[in-house]
Amino acid sequence: MKTAQVSGDKIIIKEVDDVCLDGRRGAIVNVLGCGLCGSDIVKFREKIVHDGAVLGHEIVAVIDEIDSDTSFKKGDKIVTSHHIPCGECVYCRHGNVSMCEHFKSTNIRPGGFSEKVFVSEEHLKNVAHLVPEDMTDEEISFYEPLGCCIRAIKRCNLIEGDKVLVIGLGSIGLLMGEGIKAMGYKVYGCDLIEERIALGNKLGIESYNSLIAGVNLGGVNLGVLTQYL
Ligand SMILES: [Zn+2]
Ligand SMILES: [Zn+2]
Repeated sequence: MKTAQVSGDKIIIKEVDDVCLDGRRGAIVNVLGCGLCGSDIVKFREKIVHDGAVLGHEIVAVIDEIDSDTSFKKGDKIVTSHHIPCGECVYCRHGNVSMCEHFKSTNIRPGGFSEKVFVSEEHLKNVAHLVPEDMTDEEISFYEPLGCCIRAIKRCNLIEGDKVLVIGLGSIGLLMGEGIKAMGYKVYGCDLIEERIALGNKLGIESYNSLIAGVNLGGVNLGVLTQYL
């Protein structure tokens, strides 16, 4: 199978042995697509990962081989989170799941930018979902980033009538804006790129160019900074 691996300051395509179950419980999935997360870009640019690492964790995939107690079967199209919170440690109990040791130690292997990926039984039982048939693979690949946005919004404890400004209308900013709007709050957006501002307005996010002075929003209750710095 082909994998995209970090190699110095490059990403190289490398042919490696197919990942297989080898007696493990879980599934081998064929990856249809994988989103490129901002955290992948940071890991690559800042050289946080070692050579040979396979980045990518926002996969849409079809089950090719499975040994599981779940109802998933060969041929099912799924999404899955890559990390799994234990649900019991002090971090999990306080809702800070990304601090959980188990969360950090779990992953899909070797990574999303691979033709095949091993998804463990624990993933299938806790964080994998069947894909609705009426959505495209591209839409589905936003499952994990949208989940991050919704979680962030919930943690802000907004109340009825609150107004939010999203700074940076890239893919995450737009997801944030749509999430905030869907949860019933007034949302504004700003960016420097006209196409993004137009797209924001089209999606119902009242959007402005950050350089244009004189826009008075009358104050907002929350600012969300989504720009990659
Ligand atoms: Zn991500
Ligand atoms: Zn935990």
